[in-house]
Amino acid sequence: MKHVVMFSGGAASSYVAYLLTKDKSIPFKDIVFLHTPTLSECEDSEKFRLKVARRLKIPMTVWGRGEDIWECIDRNGAVPGQFLPFCTQQLKQEMKEQYFRYLKKCGEDWTEYVGYGPDEWMRVQKATARNEALGRNVRFPLAEKGIKSEQCKSIIRDEWKIELPSAYATLKHNNCIPCFKGGKGYWYEVWKNYPEQYRKAAEKESEIGYTVFKDITLFELEKKFQNDKEWEEMQMNLWDFIPCECWT
Ligand code: SF4
Repeated sequence: MKHVVMFSGGAASSYVAYLLTKDKSIPFKDIVFLHTPTLSECEDSEKFRLKVARRLKIPMTVWGRGEDIWECIDRNGAVPGQFLPFCTQQLKQEMKEQYFRYLKKCGEDWTEYVGYGPDEWMRVQKATARNEALGRNVRFPLAEKGIKSEQCKSIIRDEWKIELPSAYATLKHNNCIPCFKGGKGYWYEVWKNYPEQYRKAAEKESEIGYTVFKDITLFELEKKFQNDKEWEEMQMNLWDFIPCECWT
């Protein structure tokens, strides 16, 4: 039986892996630290992942398309969004399924571990129902133990002495930048902190003819960001963010 931690490269999934290493009922050799890369995160994400893997003494298992978010957009001829999340499906979910098929071929059974926290009970419920329907085991150690993402971050930073990916300074998740499933408040942060990526996404909308939001293009949204002095205040609580499958 393999115990597969979906390792996004974020603090929560790192801490889930740590909890597994401390669980005496789980043979160390059976812990799999699975990363399905999107090659589109902040530049220090890989450093973080490697440092965490070394600290836990578990080699990372990497399985991916070898494609970044922009290449995924070009191949699909569409721009992803909350209602068209093909990037998650193709870069994350399909890769995970391929890895599970590989385990099956090797005659291995598995349990999947995901870093959803106690404040993400809706995602936990949905994922539990989906996996039950497939006859699969999935566990959420942080939600089960009531450990919040902020606690994971402070342990990693202050006790493990591993610097967190720089994206956490301004964004909630260490996701692709930009993450096309983010809401307008999230895109405001991208516009402010990662203007190059914002512009590239806006140009993709113009080039391809799809928009992230149904009611506004990213170029129009940028004008709002520039003109509306109240925007920042208004958006503080409007992240309306639907995270990618294993981005925690
Ligand atoms: S993090 Fe966002 S942009 Fe990247 S694959 Fe997931 S949903 Fe898509």
